[in-house]
Amino acid sequence: MHIVVCVKAVPSTTEVKMDPKTNTIVRDGRQAVVNPFDATGLEIALHIKDECAAAGDPCRVTVLSMGIPDTERLLRDCIARGADDGLLLSDRAFAGADTLATTYALSRGIACMDEPADLVVCGKMAVDGDTAQIGPELAGALDVPCVVDVQRLYGIVGSTLALEHATDAGRELVEVDLPAVITVAKDAAQLRMPSIAGVLAAEGVPIAVKTAADVEADPARTGLSGSPTQVVRSFVPERASEAVCVTGDAAEQAAALVELIEEACR
Ligand code: FAD
Repeated sequence: MHIVVCVKAVPSTTEVKMDPKTNTIVRDGRQAVVNPFDATGLEIALHIKDECAAAGDPCRVTVLSMGIPDTERLLRDCIARGADDGLLLSDRAFAGADTLATTYALSRGIACMDEPADLVVCGKMAVDGDTAQIGPELAGALDVPCVVDVQRLYGIVGSTLALEHATDAGRELVEVDLPAVITVAKDAAQLRMPSIAGVLAAEGVPIAVKTAADVEADPARTGLSGSPTQVVRSFVPERASEAVCVTGDAAEQAAALVELIEEACR
């Protein structure tokens, strides 16, 4: 079994600041961290690896990221916690990617690995971009099923995963045949700590750093030129200090809301 965990480096703060001129994230020296959802994804992959080891089955966990060269530090930390190897896609050609171009780059990285991926694990969302699109888009690009918002892993039997995931209507138990993509909720698991032996061993593990050309990515589908979406403006919504409470039954509340909206628009 080969599991690929997609890991995004995100700012180490929940208050993401944007440069109003360039509409990019201000990275003011704060160290990047692994997106918390991806830390959970890694733990789920490591749990499957443990189950495989107990059954005597081989399982390899590869961490994959598209990011700046410093992201290698985060991938190495993932290896210290139990991942086997890492692939970093790092190239100016990837810069400015929207979700479509990011998905394309990640799919090229997966396609160029020496072993096909049986399972791709993504976080449900990244805490900076927040779109939650990459996992489902990646499933589309790889033409495999996708289970989103996984809350719990029940286990793996043969090449079938049993999972609980959240839907608009509540929780659902599903079985999915591999290969597949799953996206995981933040609280689905708690990432284990690295051991001293793991940290020392991780130092010697080479992390492959590849450019767009290395993974044979089409320049027209990469980075800014491959991104149909561009952020033209970003702003923090103003919070009104006063709240108006509408009361009554549904019809009365609706009428009161219409009146308030009309008043605000005058
Ligand atoms: P999500 O889809 O939220 O991430 C889900 C999972 O995908 C992650 O948990 C991780 O497992 C994986 N993943 C995501 N990125 C990487 C990566 N680089 N390497 C490895 N794994 C990864 N793009 C748009 O297309 N449309 C927009 O409207 C848009 N708005 C944006 C607004 C802001 C304020 C910012 C900062 C960015 C915006 N982007 C937008 C760009 C978008 O954030 C990037 O394309 C980003 O690379 C992927 O989207 P995400 O962070 O929303 O990922």
